Amino acid sequence: MERQKCHAFVLRSAKYKDHDKILTLFTRSEGKLTVCAKGAMSIKCKYSPSTQLFALSEYVLSESKSGLYVYSADLIRMFEGIVKDYERLAVASYFCELIDIMFHAGMNEDITFNLIYYALDLTEKAPLEYMPLIALVIALKLTGISGIYPCLNVCVKCCEESDMYMFDYSQGGVICPRCAQTKDLPLLTRTETEYMYALLHMDLRNIVKSKLADKDEIILLFKYINEYIRYNVGRLPRSVEQLYAI
Ligand SMILES: [Zn+2]
Repeated sequence: MERQKCHAFVLRSAKYKDHDKILTLFTRSEGKLTVCAKGAMSIKCKYSPSTQLFALSEYVLSESKSGLYVYSADLIRMFEGIVKDYERLAVASYFCELIDIMFHAGMNEDITFNLIYYALDLTEKAPLEYMPLIALVIALKLTGISGIYPCLNVCVKCCEESDMYMFDYSQGGVICPRCAQTKDLPLLTRTETEYMYALLHMDLRNIVKSKLADKDEIILLFKYINEYIRYNVGRLPRSVEQLYAI
């Protein structure tokens, strides 16, 4: 049977039968893959660390009648610092769940793979007070990579700038009061839309150098972006509620 080598992160890891696990991997070459890790629950399993959530490994995958399975795996990085803090774990879980929801097999593998690496690295190392901002930036970046990023710098209908906007999920971005047909939409100031626009285009590695906005403000913008994602994708990660509370 032909075997394939790949670098991959574990986005989801679920117990299967008595000794196995079903893993959702994100590979650099093929994007999302579902594989069986036979015997991963056994203490004798040599590649058990590679089946932990977030782990980055080099896998050798093989194929059986029932699908892909892990033939062997060499752990590259564990990101073990993430599980030491509730806030870090909540952000990383949200991020991996969101990728699982937003991405199908064969979508933008290389850029997404690199984003996962930088996002997990940042989530592991950045000061705890940056976790809400990291969650907001990650959510914005994923809308960008998956091609559903909201228009934030001008009114999506008339293309004019405005001091106030409303976030119209159905129109794909912010809308000025002149173009709005309903008042029942979240209000955003120009400062808030410019802030989100800057975050959407920011290099992730510069986040911890940026001035931290008020935490309640960040959480509010994070909620708006999640509602935008829910409108476009149909659902949200279960872990999002934990993030609203951090
Ligand atoms: Zn307008």
